[in-house]
Amino acid sequence: TSARALANSDDRVSVFVRVRPLVGVELAGGPDGGKAHKCVVLEPASASLALETPWDARVYSFAYDAVFDTTTPQDAVYAAVAAPVVEAVLEGRNGTVLAYGQTGTGKTHTLAKLEPLAEAGIIPRAVAHIFSYAAAHPDQDVRVVLSLLQLYRDAPQDLLARRAPDTAPPLSIRQLKGGAVYVQGLSKHPVDSVDAVLELLDIGYARRAIESTRLNDVSSRAHTILRLEVSRRDPFSGSRTHGVFTCVDLAGSERVKKSRSRGARLDEAKFINKSLTALGNVIASLADPGVSYIPYRDSKLTRLLQDSLGGNCVTALIVNIGPAVTSAHESVSSLQFGQRAM
Ligand code: ADP
Ligand code: MG
Repeated sequence: TSARALANSDDRVSVFVRVRPLVGVELAGGPDGGKAHKCVVLEPASASLALETPWDARVYSFAYDAVFDTTTPQDAVYAAVAAPVVEAVLEGRNGTVLAYGQTGTGKTHTLAKLEPLAEAGIIPRAVAHIFSYAAAHPDQDVRVVLSLLQLYRDAPQDLLARRAPDTAPPLSIRQLKGGAVYVQGLSKHPVDSVDAVLELLDIGYARRAIESTRLNDVSSRAHTILRLEVSRRDPFSGSRTHGVFTCVDLAGSERVKKSRSRGARLDEAKFINKSLTALGNVIASLADPGVSYIPYRDSKLTRLLQDSLGGNCVTALIVNIGPAVTSAHESVSSLQFGQRAM
């Protein structure tokens, strides 16, 4: 529609849905010992999908910028979602890719799978994209600086500092007079090759807060934020352009009750719920041309991402869902989150 075309030209976030294949217990762990039933039907040609709820047989239909079925390979996801964002960063704009979804739906697979190369996710592909640009344009003196942090219980923690995050004091979020937000004391790592980045990411990702919940053996309860500051000398003006590529692996969006959390886990879940709600409000405000105030200050997560969302930024949101009826409830809620950004 023309409204959509209009929206595409401004602040609106591009929204994509990726459905992972049945995995683990879904393949053979049902009550009848068979495969879990699927409740999601994709229509890639019209960028839409339908989900039939098992409890009242209601059919929800949603349309996005694109939907990716279980057979869509990583390189196709990169080309559609992240390549345009990286191109914008190389032009000196800020670009952000976020993955949202219940634990176990493929956020980390989509963003941060490092090997084998053929199955690598968005981050290693973005890094390769930037360094191949650098190699093709030696006159532009491309420089890349990496940082990686997690936001755990609202505390920013450096995943690439000398000290492991649980032994280091939490970092604080600061704002410059001009408005730019930064994390004080966050380590920055100049990198000059794909291998150098992968080596650091191996360390950083191994340090993420990982806890067992009833939903998944290993589930991430922290937001993980990777930043690549990319600068280059513009051959025409001679001055340097600066762009930041930000990639956010959000904490699992599942509701607390389902994982039967108590005590510390419940607290953790409250931080997650609050920050994801604030993020949803920011993204929805950006999508609404009638809204001029964007509530970045409502959570630490949205404050951290203030310079990475809206304004001149190019942003893509991937909603990851599972295909099984057993996660239909969470899938509907994730799909609705994505819909608010449209
Ligand atoms: P999350 O980060 O959302 O908790 P993961 O990325 O860890 O989820 O994925 C959960 C499991 O599903 C992993 O074993 C992962 O390899 C598998 N998986 C996720 N997405 C896909 C996909 N598109 N194709 C194949 N396997 C996938
Ligand atoms: Mg994960």
